[in-house]
Amino acid sequence: MEYPEEKWDPQLPEHYRGAPALVKDESGRVRCVACQLCEFICPPRAIKIEPGEISAKDRFSKVEKYPREFDIDMIRCIFCGMCEEVCPEQAIFLRKDYAITGLTRAEMVHNKEKLLEIGGVMHGVVLKWNEKK
Ligand code: SF4
Ligand code: SF4
Repeated sequence: MEYPEEKWDPQLPEHYRGAPALVKDESGRVRCVACQLCEFICPPRAIKIEPGEISAKDRFSKVEKYPREFDIDMIRCIFCGMCEEVCPEQAIFLRKDYAITGLTRAEMVHNKEKLLEIGGVMHGVVLKWNEKK
């Protein structure tokens, strides 16, 4: 295959694990609750989270925390998928993206905005925000 003129995309298997990304729910809220489990479990310590506190007046105050900063260093990431497995909120997923490039080390650190851009919207139950819970 003459990469990069020809792309792998159509041949990627269903279970392919590419770049990790954060997702929002259908109402546009970031699903991550900054529990930091993924940061703890990540083997190469690629994830760095700075939690923020959700105000008591907020409709989602029950959630308590949100990620003020959320960085994944894609030079360190080994695409293992453990962050996705450990997340209790279905907030982080490995997408099919594999062409991760940058001219500097700093560019290779995906910040929250970049991670959300890659992740997009994911429908389904968000456990902690489920009012029936
Ligand atoms: S895929 Fe693995 S290495 Fe990459 S951020 Fe997630 S836990 Fe860390
Ligand atoms: S992505 Fe999931 S595991 Fe990681 S801090 Fe957010 S809620 Fe916790």
